[in-house]
Amino acid sequence: MYKKKYILEDLKKSIRDVPDFPKKGILFKDLTTVFKDKKFLSFMVDEIYEYYKNLGITKIVGIESRGFILGTALAYKIGAGFILVRKPNKLPSETYKKSYDLEYGKDQLEIHKDALNSDDVVLIHDDLLATGGTAIATLDLLKNFNLKKIYLNFAVELAFLKAREKFNKNIDIYSLIKF
Ligand code: AMP
Repeated sequence: MYKKKYILEDLKKSIRDVPDFPKKGILFKDLTTVFKDKKFLSFMVDEIYEYYKNLGITKIVGIESRGFILGTALAYKIGAGFILVRKPNKLPSETYKKSYDLEYGKDQLEIHKDALNSDDVVLIHDDLLATGGTAIATLDLLKNFNLKKIYLNFAVELAFLKAREKFNKNIDIYSLIKF
């Protein structure tokens, strides 16, 4: 059995860097190389679970689409429900919508209007925090539900982009791996 520090180091090294994907100038952190490894997959779920296990989380909100992978596993392990935040026109029932700016152009996220209620304690999960635009749009989307407590989690944080500075100081943000 590896020690935690060594698994974390190995995991970090196993994330594949893909230059110029999906467009020129972006160094894409490809997590398929860690999701495919059963040791890394279970380690990521177990580590993130340890951080949140006693916080009374009732719903995990996963952001399309890579946020669905660990998000669902976490929901199962924590004993919470799983909620999908999706790109436009994918959710079939009535939705709240939030537009946000991308580097070039705009995008929109949606959530079902009956996804959450004000008693829920919510953990938002996405695979990676880059500029923070996606997570901030998701927080805005969740304002519709008057939630008392929201936590934010990422498998990977590109800390050099300093997205943390854009969030309200009261919000608890935990990332397993930082670059
Ligand atoms: P952002 O809104 O800039 O924080 O970007 C976060 C979203 O875009 C996440 O859903 C990530 O999956 C994806 N993303 C942004 N930049 C990268 C990157 N360099 N490598 C992998 N995924 C990225």
